[in-house]
Amino acid sequence: MSDIQSDLKQHKTTVVKITEQYLQNIKANAHLNAFNEVFEDVLVKAQDVDTKIKEGKEGKLAGIVLAIKDNICYKDHQVSASSKILDGFTSIYSSTVVERLLAEDAIIIGRCNCDEFAMGASNETSYFGPVKNHADETKVPGGSSGGSAVAVQAGMCHAAIGTDTGGSIRQPAAFCGVIGLKPTYGRVSRYGLIAYASSFDQAGPITKSIEDAALLLEVMAGVDDYDGMVANVPVPAYHKDLEITGKKKIAYISEALNSPGVDPQLKNLLSTQIEKLKNDGHVVEPVSFEFMDYVVPTYYILTMAEASSNLARYDGVHYGYRSPNATDLESTYKKSRSEGFGKEVKRRIMLGTFVLSAGYYDAYYAKAQKIRRMIRDKTNQILSEYDFILTPTAPTPAFNIGENMQDPIVMYLADIFTVQASLAGIPAISLPIGNNDNGLPLALQVITKSFGEADLLKFSKYFLELSKN
Ligand code: GLN
Repeated sequence: MSDIQSDLKQHKTTVVKITEQYLQNIKANAHLNAFNEVFEDVLVKAQDVDTKIKEGKEGKLAGIVLAIKDNICYKDHQVSASSKILDGFTSIYSSTVVERLLAEDAIIIGRCNCDEFAMGASNETSYFGPVKNHADETKVPGGSSGGSAVAVQAGMCHAAIGTDTGGSIRQPAAFCGVIGLKPTYGRVSRYGLIAYASSFDQAGPITKSIEDAALLLEVMAGVDDYDGMVANVPVPAYHKDLEITGKKKIAYISEALNSPGVDPQLKNLLSTQIEKLKNDGHVVEPVSFEFMDYVVPTYYILTMAEASSNLARYDGVHYGYRSPNATDLESTYKKSRSEGFGKEVKRRIMLGTFVLSAGYYDAYYAKAQKIRRMIRDKTNQILSEYDFILTPTAPTPAFNIGENMQDPIVMYLADIFTVQASLAGIPAISLPIGNNDNGLPLALQVITKSFGEADLLKFSKYFLELSKN
């Protein structure tokens, strides 16, 4: 990012030229299906930023071309959550994250494909079809922010903004060999994100460098009158200080390293990195996390319940798609929803409604809430003794397109390592640490304490360097 900005200052390039280059890359990679739309106004906006640069009035993100996941509202631009039910819907206001990025003169080049309503781990539930992984086009890019991760991976933008409910920034970043940061719940405003599960959703950056992740987080984070869950915790200038200090205490979850479901090369990678950290003077120890078998069921019960409530608003009246076959009010609701939502979204609305229903509420929803608390408390207890927790981001590298679509449970299990931080509401980052023998990216996840993003970013920068040696 700093290179681009110094080139701009010395008039070696312009924002228009940089944007044109990305537009060309998007065209050349159209077959990857990463974008649902490239915004028409982008060169006009680039011109405006060039004018500001000439006047010396540009913001922190001048020259930075971003893509946004297609569930983030940008005023006067379409947004669809990759669903037929929002087809043709135009945002009437911008999300806080978009407002803040634009205020610092970022260029938003387009909206990226994702799983429908961010429900998925492979980008295959999108109404607009799957996205292909640029490392191997027979593989999924991960999900749900799959298009955003591929856009960064294949150089179609400088960085992207995704959303993460249970891994949707981190797991696609892992599958595509880029960096993905899910902030603490309450660090970044959710205002103007299309809600999936409101007690989990967070927006965050997908980038190629830690510096970029730090700067983007810094711009997006902080109190917002429109989201009461954003904490009144000062936002440090994350990107200004990325030097690690002292030796760290790091835990790795023994259940994760020993699980038979984890790819052998990923296990080796984790062991090698643990050795490197130890050799560099850090304390790295196994800890037991006895809730490993419960994280996925707890996550899915709670998020489906929240989704069933959040998605009640798509009724064929307020937004987007209305069934042409409807004859009265009731059939407008029924037909618009039946025709507008895809299979996975319907499954979740129905299961969510079931776990919230009077007869089953205590058995499922209330119980899952209690287990969420236990998972959070145990995770925080580990983090009171250790600076970081290290796990693989996902149990395997990118899988084949089509491979996991027949069995939703298999797909849900792809989230086993990402949902812990989501349930606990704490920050986590996925870091690309090499490729497997088939050239597919492998990644590790680092988790830390609530609002510990500054330390997480410092450690990540150091760890990425260390992993190269
Ligand atoms: N794969 C998870 C799910 O389908 C995570 C999705 C997300 O974080 N939006 O719920």
